Amino acid sequence: MTNEKIGLYIHIPFCRKKCYYCGFYSLASLKYLKDFVDALRIEFQTYGKYFRNVDTIYFGGGTPSFIGAENIKTILNDISSIFVLDQDCEITVECNPEDLSYEFIEALSESIVTRIVIGIQSFFDQKLELLGRSYTSKKAREVLRILKASTTSTIGMDLIYGTIFDNLDLWRQELDTTISFYPDHISCYELTIEPKTRFSQMKTFQVKMEEKYISEIYIYTSCYLASNGYLHYEVSNFARGLCQIPRHNWKYWKRAPYLGFGPSAHSFYGNRRWWNTSSIRKYLAALGEGCLPIEGREDLHQEQIELETLCLGLRTFEGVKMDSFKVLRFSPLRVKMLKDLGYIGLKGRRVYPTTMGYLISDTLPLELIE
Ligand code: SF4
Repeated sequence: MTNEKIGLYIHIPFCRKKCYYCGFYSLASLKYLKDFVDALRIEFQTYGKYFRNVDTIYFGGGTPSFIGAENIKTILNDISSIFVLDQDCEITVECNPEDLSYEFIEALSESIVTRIVIGIQSFFDQKLELLGRSYTSKKAREVLRILKASTTSTIGMDLIYGTIFDNLDLWRQELDTTISFYPDHISCYELTIEPKTRFSQMKTFQVKMEEKYISEIYIYTSCYLASNGYLHYEVSNFARGLCQIPRHNWKYWKRAPYLGFGPSAHSFYGNRRWWNTSSIRKYLAALGEGCLPIEGREDLHQEQIELETLCLGLRTFEGVKMDSFKVLRFSPLRVKMLKDLGYIGLKGRRVYPTTMGYLISDTLPLELIE
């Protein structure tokens, strides 16, 4: 049994309907809901034999709000009866606008939930329809007004850019509307075409905007949100000050331990990463037989650990300390060149990405090492 504080990620594998761009595992039905909640309890109990202290909980998916406030509370009660929750445990629930009634928000506010993240994605009906979202922009604005008036929880909003309907003018309006609700946290994700999604099967209809305009929107977003008081602390994420950086998400970038529950959830502890099966049936069957539903695992060796530390670190405004690496070697020439070109900044021996650096976050780490 370890006393180390860990984060818990709960993957709720249900959605009202599948959005056309989504590659996450979820079913468009609640058929297995009760069995899932029962199986989760067994999964908590199994890990509870080895882990005790929890300082963050994150309900993602899928659509956690789709299963209703009572089920979220039941899952939280199960967690609290097995693990010891920090007094200021950060508890996040992802929600979709169509689930956010006044009653739902009130029920969550009365629970121990501390953060609500709303998948708004857009305030434009045409764009919402293109993405396969099942609410209108009017509904999105309505629930945000209710939410602002009736909860003291921290509020996060997710947006998507890069569709065929986006241009700088429309995106400016998206951001204007977003900050008018004064959220504590904003995530802006570029639309990507994931395999096995409806978008990936579309051959004739173009859904993405031209690549050359994406970077323009990205740089604009960073400047716009910075001038409105938001810290661009990670490639796709902005917080209204340091204290609004979600502690759970920060664990992912800092390689802190977390446990994932539910189908397709990933876990990380020590230098081991493992993940659950992405099939609800296999998930329920394994736990029904008293086994963990683990589908795969990998143990990272030193070079992989350092590469991962570098890649994840360079996704954040903190960057990495060049001296903390034993195997990887930074190239002084390349470091100087990338600094001169404006992709990175240096604070002593710490290297961190600029907004331009965030834009090339996939290749930047390899550009810096010998
Ligand atoms: S984007 Fe969210 S709501 Fe849409 S299918 Fe994916 S998980 Fe479900």
